Amino acid sequence: MATQPIDLKDDSSAFQASSTTIRSLAPHRPDHIDIPVALPRLPTTDCITPYLRQIDQNRWYTNQGPLCDALQDRLGQFWGVGYERVALVTNATTGLSLALRAHGIPAGTRCLMPSWTFTASAAAVVGANLRPHFVDVCPATWCPDPARIEHLAKADDVGAIFIVAPFGAPLDLDLWDGIAERTGRPVIIDAAAAFDTLRDHGPMRPRRSTIVVSLHATKVFGLGEGGAVLTHDPALAEHVRTLARFGFAGSRSAQYPAMNAKISEYTAAVGLAGLDYWEPMRARWRNVTELYRRALPSSVILPPDFGNNWVSATLTAICPTDAGPVTGYLAAHGVQTVSWWGTGCHTQPAYAHCTRDPLPVTEDYGRCSVGLPFWQDLSAEQITYVCDLLNKALKLGNT
Ligand SMILES: *Cc1c(COP(=O)(O)O)cnc(C)c1O
Repeated sequence: MATQPIDLKDDSSAFQASSTTIRSLAPHRPDHIDIPVALPRLPTTDCITPYLRQIDQNRWYTNQGPLCDALQDRLGQFWGVGYERVALVTNATTGLSLALRAHGIPAGTRCLMPSWTFTASAAAVVGANLRPHFVDVCPATWCPDPARIEHLAKADDVGAIFIVAPFGAPLDLDLWDGIAERTGRPVIIDAAAAFDTLRDHGPMRPRRSTIVVSLHATKVFGLGEGGAVLTHDPALAEHVRTLARFGFAGSRSAQYPAMNAKISEYTAAVGLAGLDYWEPMRARWRNVTELYRRALPSSVILPPDFGNNWVSATLTAICPTDAGPVTGYLAAHGVQTVSWWGTGCHTQPAYAHCTRDPLPVTEDYGRCSVGLPFWQDLSAEQITYVCDLLNKALKLGNT
């Protein structure tokens, strides 16, 4: 298939893409790939420059500077929680670890979590000195069964519950609050992909549980590397900020064993520029979501509530058969795919020794899932091409 030029019809001149092809935008992409699985698009230099000039003027480069403050404020408004309840950190993985630590969960206790998640979730749990115990997910929600979690959480050696908003899909946070209250175990929400789902008046309003969002370049709203912790209690957000700045709280004396997980003013500059253009960016994500929803074969299963009133930056589909031959067929036609969550955390060498429940659904999903090309300026023709190939591959698999 010939390389398709990027659709340059744009709603904001600020995102001026040059009249170039996808290939030259991604010079590191191997020749045989016509449609990459991801092609992130962050604010351009021109959008960021006004903020960089502010940094020049301020001569303040990191340590909760004025741009970091402004970003924290605008994100707090975006999520409807306010400035005080947001802590910005270097990435979501670190944010999750710090959130677990800020809750004071006893080291060495078990943390109940799905295996069906990105491996960073398990890294964050181990990074907080907890032991993952993997549970399966329900086919309807792609999340652990709340009754199973509540039952397991009664064991003395369980310290915390870690729940993932799968690929940005909304969770019933009231339900998880209830479980936290009844079991006395804090629930931490890995909402890495749920930047938009959490927006003020969006489908997943923050409740009592602590939530962590990723601002990585491949997520729906990216600023390179970054993350945000959203808390119910402002003191808890301040505790996370303290843990992210050497344990300093008002003096240069370390109050806790801590780390350095602050964001610099340069990162904040990209974030502020991104927020200036979030609406047109979100419209592009919506457009790609809608085009896929119309063209995908009906036999594939999408994340719960996919694209209903929220956008995210990936499209993981569960095929009715093994994904191997499907991804092979797509690759042979120049379409790149990825298995975003692989075959579950429990199959990763680093976490294979962790305790776990039986994981039949996770194993099915690991075998049958495929991450399809999904990026803001993917064209209708490209989406039709991918879906037609997927259809053919599934039919071939059935004969
Ligand atoms: C992306 C992602 C992470 C990691 O986020 P970083 O900001 O890259 O550390 C963690 N969990 C899930 C579910 C993710 O999708």
